[in-house]
Amino acid sequence: MEMEKLVSLCKRRGFLFQSSEIYGGINGFWDYGPLGVELKRNIKEAWWRDMVTSHDELSVVAGAPASYEMTGLDCTIIMHPQVWKVSGHYDLFSDRMVDCRETKGRYRYDQLRGQWVEAKGRRVFVTTNAEADDEADDLRRRALKVFRLRNKDADALVWDGPIVSLETVDDFASVFAPQASKVGTLTEPREFNLMLDCYPGPIKDEKNRAFLRPETAQGIFVNFKNVVDSTRVRVPFGIAQVGKSFRNEITPRNFTFRSREFEQMEIEFFCHPDTSTAWYKFWRDRRFRWYQDLGLAGERLQLRDHDPDELSHYSTGTADIEYAFPFLPEGEYGELEGIAHRGDFDLRSHMEGKLNPETNPLEVELGENGKPKYKGSGRDLTYRDDLSNERFTPHVIEPSAGADRATLAFLCEAYCEDEQPSEKGKLETRVVMQLHPRIAPIKAAIFPLVKKDGMPEVAKDIYRAMKKQFPAFYDEKGAVGRRYRRQDEAGTPYCITVDGQTLTDQTVTIRDRDTLKQWRVKIDDVVDEIATRVS
Ligand code: ATP
Repeated sequence: MEMEKLVSLCKRRGFLFQSSEIYGGINGFWDYGPLGVELKRNIKEAWWRDMVTSHDELSVVAGAPASYEMTGLDCTIIMHPQVWKVSGHYDLFSDRMVDCRETKGRYRYDQLRGQWVEAKGRRVFVTTNAEADDEADDLRRRALKVFRLRNKDADALVWDGPIVSLETVDDFASVFAPQASKVGTLTEPREFNLMLDCYPGPIKDEKNRAFLRPETAQGIFVNFKNVVDSTRVRVPFGIAQVGKSFRNEITPRNFTFRSREFEQMEIEFFCHPDTSTAWYKFWRDRRFRWYQDLGLAGERLQLRDHDPDELSHYSTGTADIEYAFPFLPEGEYGELEGIAHRGDFDLRSHMEGKLNPETNPLEVELGENGKPKYKGSGRDLTYRDDLSNERFTPHVIEPSAGADRATLAFLCEAYCEDEQPSEKGKLETRVVMQLHPRIAPIKAAIFPLVKKDGMPEVAKDIYRAMKKQFPAFYDEKGAVGRRYRRQDEAGTPYCITVDGQTLTDQTVTIRDRDTLKQWRVKIDDVVDEIATRVS
């Protein structure tokens, strides 16, 4: 599937719009349209329901080491700035960037790609920031420019090796930056903090500086004690949260994949250190299955365990759930969710602020009184098991998912084209969004075949009955074939048609979006039948 087709369908049918589009848009921000908002809500609701509200804490879920409890939270986006100091985000949450002195362009060091090319006795690393499909074309164009060659002289270019990341290049003097006119205009990489700041209160000074959260997780850690003290949850248990996060991404790109404002669905699962490895494995597999069950069943979805050298210093295991998005180069995958074994790093940091000075400068930064400026809360965040009387700092397993990336993956997976005969018998391309019925924005559409003979009245009654149970859509405009096509593009799994026969035998047809099979059911049964099929 070509990405442009999906992007255009999303705009045309109201899944996604560029934010502030009438003013030219704003880079890294997206709005969900009438269909998109339903799709994303359904995904978030499926997650909340499957992970939290319908979880049965009285049984041992298949694959789990024991029974466990789940609960939820909804924390603020702006928190005490100390949270981000202690979590490490203030000092460490950054990307390495290179700047172009000539064009003032700023690029992520690990994302800028290019290729070595030689001509006229000179060797240059030509870079591109074009999308994957156009990389080779753009590199050729840029190489012709840097060597002042014409199109017909392209044979003079001698390419040396494949397209690779700028990270593989030592000699910055030979790098030709995107959009630049001269070679050697890129700076060495430097750190750039990804947190967006803000100044709550009337005075805009350093003392009042705060941050928009770059992840929802920290709100859970700092409320750990509140949840334990105010409920009767016992370890092992998980706290879930869904909400907005903000990151000042340098190169927002690939549609909603990398945005500056996005939504996360995170769980912090607290368990005893001795069983934490078993819980980590459970959550990794459980989360992978969740995407499969909702329709990411094909080979584009993969579970990838991190190599030991990829792990954070505190983690003993991390796995990513990844999807081969169509905008990525062949064979590359993008992260949908990370599942990390975080040990007791977070709770311990919020207690003690004591982190390894090698990897976190917390302890070395001193305040005016000569004491470490950023300390933990000093609160006791340990847990006492009331049965065994053991006191310990729980270990944490963190499944951290992005609602927007999941939505995008479901959209990509759903997009499908086939050939179907039109009403006049000619073959036409049909675009169909094969969304899982649980997440489809509209569950059923109802059409009177024609706008007369009492058909609209019957259809409207069915529509009203359906609306009480699930999102439905009524349409009486135009040829019925065109009405089907519109619902196929919206991903509506079932269409119901009231026709001449309805008036004599009280039955209607149901048409299945994917198989195109049609069958008749009694009017009295149609709502139940659809409700069962979409639940
Ligand atoms: P990446 O390496 O792609 O930047 P990350 O490893 O920094 O992602 P995490 O910090 O693990 O991501 O965040 C958890 C999840 O939040 C990701 O798996 C992703 O689904 C989502 N997410 C993170 N950054 C963004 C973003 N800029 N836009 C949309 N979703 C995001």
